Amino acid sequence: DKKIRSIDEKVDRWRIKFKDDNALKVKEDVFDEYALKTLYTLSKREILQAMGGIISRGKEANVFLADGKENEIAVKIYRITTSSFNSMEEYIIGDPRFKNIRHTKREIVFAWTRKEYRNLKRAYEAGVRVPYPIIAERNILVMEFLGKDGISYPLLKYTEIDQKQAEDIFSRLIEYMHKLYQEANLIHADLSEYNIMIDTDNMSPIIIDMGQATTPEHPRAKEFLIRDIENILKFFRRYGIDTDPDDLYTSIVND
Ligand code: ADP
Ligand code: MN
Repeated sequence: DKKIRSIDEKVDRWRIKFKDDNALKVKEDVFDEYALKTLYTLSKREILQAMGGIISRGKEANVFLADGKENEIAVKIYRITTSSFNSMEEYIIGDPRFKNIRHTKREIVFAWTRKEYRNLKRAYEAGVRVPYPIIAERNILVMEFLGKDGISYPLLKYTEIDQKQAEDIFSRLIEYMHKLYQEANLIHADLSEYNIMIDTDNMSPIIIDMGQATTPEHPRAKEFLIRDIENILKFFRRYGIDTDPDDLYTSIVND
């Protein structure tokens, strides 16, 4: 229809390459004017070679596989008209790093995208395994693709693990939460088996989805950290891991 046609015209005009053309519905849904312009900027700067298929369709963002300069990349495109806009605003308002942004929908989504980029960068620099962030441009975050041969690694939720693997993954996650807090000055704030991928080559965890991560100064920081701890303990309890949440909290917060 007309809307799709006009998107296709822009895609052509701006020479954004799509590897596979049956994604018309996807285009209509997520490649709005902003996204297309931004993808164009990214192709011009040779960060993006060609867009590939969709990896995930979420409430706030969609994630795509794409060809980067040398490797495969993951392209996370936040919706400008997001339904969880209010919760985004709440997280950003409590964060001293975002004192000066204008509170329009667009500005908040752009700030959110930059926030996820910076959070990933800080986590990465603290030695936490996360997707390496390549660039944040408006509502698009480009990062390292986590997977093999174009297939994403599975989420912890959907990975079959044995007792020993569970113990190793658990202790690695505790180490990461500690590093995040102590070195990156961050609390993930949405940590669960749905935001942890498993590198199936060595069965080690990778923490993803850090847009909402906050600093310990956030007024609800303590609540967020306790919730993260409880989500993780709940998941691992079925493997007989039974750590006390208060002890864990203390060990993360006190160096
Ligand atoms: P949201 O939950 O807000 O939609 P996520 O950042 O959790 O966004 O990403 C959604 C899904 O996309 C993840 O569950 C994961 O399967 C996939 N994904 C996210 N980042 C990457 C990445 N860097 N490489 C491969 N797959 C990814
Ligand atoms: Mn997620």
